[in-house]
Amino acid sequence: MVWQRNVVLKTSEEIEIMREAGRINALALDTARQLIRPGIITSELDKAAEEVIRDQGGAPAFKGYPGPYPYPATLTISVNEALVHGIPGKHELLPGDIVSIDCGTTYNGLIADSAFTAGVGEISKDAQHLLDVTEKALSVGIEQMHSGKRIGDISAAIQRYVEEHGYHVPREYSGHGVGRQMHEAPQVPNYGRAGRGLVLRPGITLAIEPMLLVGTFQTRVLPDQWTVVSADGSLTAHFEHTVAVTENGPLILTPLEKVVDGRNKG
Ligand code: MG
Ligand code: MG
Repeated sequence: MVWQRNVVLKTSEEIEIMREAGRINALALDTARQLIRPGIITSELDKAAEEVIRDQGGAPAFKGYPGPYPYPATLTISVNEALVHGIPGKHELLPGDIVSIDCGTTYNGLIADSAFTAGVGEISKDAQHLLDVTEKALSVGIEQMHSGKRIGDISAAIQRYVEEHGYHVPREYSGHGVGRQMHEAPQVPNYGRAGRGLVLRPGITLAIEPMLLVGTFQTRVLPDQWTVVSADGSLTAHFEHTVAVTENGPLILTPLEKVVDGRNKG
């Protein structure tokens, strides 16, 4: 049902389907995460994730996504200074790298979208701190997703937390509504003012995705026309969940930790 400002509210049945899309998506991401090691090439992670999604009856939501040219892969894999939209290929992961992996799954016409960043082998303390702050910024944003709060409350909470820790958020790339389409209204920027924007209510489903940069908020796009990197070459990180606003508060539809081999341990 289209509510106001083009926001599509989901029924509880639709949210259950998104939860299944989210389970498959988390399983694909977890499969990729377990393959991360020095020497592996990023297309191997992509292939493994696609197999999981198709085995589970889903379809990769990113593949064919319209852009400068149709997106060619299941995952986006963005290493070190690459923030988002890195294309898997022959790139080899090296010890000390940090790698951001983003995935979308369509299941029965509904989509879930989530991402994480992890280290390759041993990583520096500075890199680990960036990962920890980015993951926590995601929780800080999700905690705002109660009925009656506003989009600006999510944005402001993320921005405040990130900037308190000395990092930056990009201006051009945001979280978003998700469900019937990969990117729906509303946008959920990682910066903004509390008390502004759309009022949250049950049935709203959002992809919350803090993206952090160490040295600058500025980004640029590589000649492949997809990969977004920090303008100064400094490290970046990205965590994302698809989350529903419910009567009982935020419900994460893409929980990563509890999914192993297709069974929900929790
Ligand atoms: Mg994503
Ligand atoms: Mg997203």
